[in-house]
Amino acid sequence: MSKDDTNLSRRDFIKRLGMSTASAAIFLSIGSLSSFGSEKNNLKKNPSTTSSNSGSMTYRVNRHTGDKVSLLGYGMMRLPSKDGVVDQEMVNKEVDYAIAHGINYFDTAPVYCGGKSEIYTGIALHRHPRNSYYVATKMSDKGDHSLEAGKRMFEQSLKNLQVDYIDYYLLHAVGNGGLERLNERFIDNGLLDYLCQERDKGRIKNLGFSYHGDVRVFDWLLDHNDKYKFTFVQIEMNYIDWRHASLNKGGWKQDADAEYLYNKCEKVGVQNVVMEPLLGGRLANIPEKYRKQLQEVRPDATPASWAFRWVGSHSNILTTLSGMTTMNVLVENVNTFSPLDPCTKSENELLEKIADGMSGMPVVPCTACNYCMPCPYGVNIPGNFAYYNKSINEGTFPDKTAKDYKERLSNFIDGYKKTFKEEAWAIQCMDCEACMPKCPQQIRIPNQLSRIVELTREGL
Ligand code: SF4
Ligand code: SF4
Repeated sequence: MSKDDTNLSRRDFIKRLGMSTASAAIFLSIGSLSSFGSEKNNLKKNPSTTSSNSGSMTYRVNRHTGDKVSLLGYGMMRLPSKDGVVDQEMVNKEVDYAIAHGINYFDTAPVYCGGKSEIYTGIALHRHPRNSYYVATKMSDKGDHSLEAGKRMFEQSLKNLQVDYIDYYLLHAVGNGGLERLNERFIDNGLLDYLCQERDKGRIKNLGFSYHGDVRVFDWLLDHNDKYKFTFVQIEMNYIDWRHASLNKGGWKQDADAEYLYNKCEKVGVQNVVMEPLLGGRLANIPEKYRKQLQEVRPDATPASWAFRWVGSHSNILTTLSGMTTMNVLVENVNTFSPLDPCTKSENELLEKIADGMSGMPVVPCTACNYCMPCPYGVNIPGNFAYYNKSINEGTFPDKTAKDYKERLSNFIDGYKKTFKEEAWAIQCMDCEACMPKCPQQIRIPNQLSRIVELTREGL
C-alpha cells in the first residue's frame, strides 16, 4: 500500500468497507447470554444487526469477520493471586462471571504472569464452549528471534490455551527498537509470512499488532496492509494520551498521540483494541479538584467509568481491555458497559480540559506492567513510581513552592519508609539499565527513580 492510499477521505473509507456510516458506528447490545454462541453465528450472516437492551453488554462488530465482540475485554496480564501465587479458582470465578455477563474477549500473552497467564487463561476458558469466547494472544519478544523459536511460541500458545485456533493473534509490542527490531523479529526471518500462512490455514482468525514507541513502525505496517491484511491494531488510548502522549514521557519522546494512531487505523479500515484505557490506573485516581468537576456532572459515576465511557464512545474501537483482578472492579466495569452510555459533547469537552490540566503534572507514565522486574539490585520499580504518582494525584506532593513544603516532605518520607523495605528503595538503583529495554513506555527508569532519590535523600 502506498502512502497516498492511506489518505482516504472518510467517504472513500466507508465505500471501501462497503457499509453505511451508521453501520460503521455500530453499537450492539444483547440480552440473552446463555445463547451467545448461536447469536454469534447469526450475526456473521447479518453483521449490521443492532439492539440496545438496558442492563446488557454493548458489542461491536468486527467488520472483517462479523465477530460480535464485547466492548469490554478482559486483560489477563495481572490475575488474582494469594500469597504471590495466582489463584486459579478465583480466575475461574471471574471468567465465569465475565462470560455470564456478556464479556467474550480475553487477552493474554506468553510473557504475562511470569509466562503462565496463557495456562491460567486456558484452564478457565476451556470450561466454556469454544464459540462463547474469543481469545487473543501474542508473539512476544523472548530474545530468540529465529523463525523456529517463533513457530514454537505459536504452537505453545495453542497448547497452553487448549485451543486449535487463535481468534486474535498479535505481533507483540512492535515499535520498541524501531524498524530495525521489527525487521529482526518479524520480517527478515520470515515470521510474519509464516503467521499469514497460519491465518490462511484457519489457525489464526485475525492477525494484528500491538504498538508502543516508534511511530515509523506503526506507519510501515499499516502502509503494507494490502500485503499483511491486519484486521485490528492494539493501541494505548485514553483521554490523556489522545493529545498528550507525544509530550515528553519520562525523558523519552513518545512519537505519536492516540488521536493520530486511531485516525490512521480508521482510514485504513482496521479496528482498534484499546490498552491502558485508565493510563495505568491514573485515571481511576485523579486529583481531587478534577474528581469534583466530574461529580458535579454525574454524582455517582467513578472517574474510571468516565475514562471507559470516553474510550467506548469512539466507533472504531472493537474492544477496551481492562485488567480486572478483583470481583468488585469486574462488576463495576461490567455495569459501565451494560450498556455503554457514550459521552456527550460537553462531557468530552470537560475531559479534554482535565487532560490538559493533568498532562502538565510531572507524573511518571508507568503502567505497572511489571515487564522491567525483577531488578537485579532489588528495586521495586513500579512500586516506587506508583508511590510517587499517588502523591501527585492526591495533591500531597512535596512541591518546593508549597508553603507547607517541609511537612509534605516529611510525610512523603515517613510513608515511603512504611511502604517499602530498604532493599526496594529507589536509592538502591545502580544505573545498570537492565530494565530500560523492557519498558514498553520507554521510561528512562534510572532517571525517573532519581526524582525519588532526590526527594528522599536526606530523610532515609
Ligand atoms: S537501572 Fe536501576 S532499577 Fe533498572 S535494573 Fe538497573 S538497578 Fe534496577
Ligand atoms: S517502569 Fe515500564 S516496564 Fe516497569 S512497570 Fe512501569 S511501565 Fe512497566
